[in-house]
Amino acid sequence: MKEPISMAKFQLQLIREIVGKYHQSTSRQHLTGNNHPLRLTERHFPSVYKSAGKNRSRRCVVCSANDKRHESKYECKDCNVGLCVDPCFKIYHCELNY
Ligand SMILES: [Zn+2]
Ligand SMILES: [Zn+2]
Repeated sequence: MKEPISMAKFQLQLIREIVGKYHQSTSRQHLTGNNHPLRLTERHFPSVYKSAGKNRSRRCVVCSANDKRHESKYECKDCNVGLCVDPCFKIYHCELNY
């Protein structure tokens, strides 16, 4: 084992370069405008809404934006909004204007 420290440094440098390149290319691919919410680029998953009170469902933001009243038992914790699993969860996370 010769010079373990410099080898580790080299690997670290390599990792940094790869990560840097990855970040550059992904941000260029996804960020087409200034108004680009994180919900469209991050991976979000539906989770069952559990509230402390008696209300066990939340109003779906996609449905209410389209003048529909719909309560869902599911929410996106990252966005902190109520969403129907299908199709509103996908719509909310894939479309800028839902
Ligand atoms: Zn909905
Ligand atoms: Zn989300």
